[in-house]
Amino acid sequence: MSRRRVAAANWKMNKSFAEAELFVERLLEDIDPDKTEGVHIVLTPPYIHLQNLVEMLTLNEGIAVAAQNCHHEAQGAYTGEVSASMLKSIDVDAVLVGHSERRQYFGENDMIVSKKIHRALENDLMPVYCCGETLEQRESGAHLGTVTHQIEAALTGLSAQQMQQLVIAYEPVWAIGTGKTATVEQAGEMHQHIRSVLERLFGKESAESTSILYGGSVKASNAAELFAHPHIDGGLVGGASLDPEEFLAIVYALGHKRF
Ligand code: PEP
Repeated sequence: MSRRRVAAANWKMNKSFAEAELFVERLLEDIDPDKTEGVHIVLTPPYIHLQNLVEMLTLNEGIAVAAQNCHHEAQGAYTGEVSASMLKSIDVDAVLVGHSERRQYFGENDMIVSKKIHRALENDLMPVYCCGETLEQRESGAHLGTVTHQIEAALTGLSAQQMQQLVIAYEPVWAIGTGKTATVEQAGEMHQHIRSVLERLFGKESAESTSILYGGSVKASNAAELFAHPHIDGGLVGGASLDPEEFLAIVYALGHKRF
């Protein structure tokens, strides 16, 4: 079964307005469509650049724009927050949900993450649901159980149809921003495990058609090896996505992948 191949850039809290614009200009100038066939590129800038990127990319169907977060309530007195419907109103396509930095620094728990997924889906945004274990959990052998629990807590109750709109990003916390990438065996084992959990929750067809991305120190130098694994359908890329050349090299590595 063919799954969406996704290369998503998570800029986190980086780039001025001018830097964001320059990135997109260079990406559009340099991109080679022959090497990106079938790859869904997603750019995830800070909120304030969203509208500008949506406008700059309006003619480029293969490049989507995502937000790094949304609030779990529909609207109301939540100073400083942005709702899923506001994102939709400026034609944002997707939203990261449950990134480990949100869980770690902003106290997001499984219940909040689950509500955010529902808000995103209600507003026709593609949730990129992030999960992954800490170093301590991996070293104690609790990594598979931890991720099982995260998936069950966040996704139970969704319909198979809603699952079609969602992408999962497995991001071991110990590999994010550390330069320490999971080995292909570690990532592959977890992706297969996630697919088996999805099969139990939603059935084989849904599990086989859900894209599962790997995130955690993906770079141009290790992307091809990771993406060659049959259960790794793309990458969520932080640090290495800040440079358009490096990010494009990662996108091209995914472009070479054939199911
Ligand atoms: C991320 O922010 O989701 C991420 C994977 O970061 P990095 O690639 O820098 O490890």
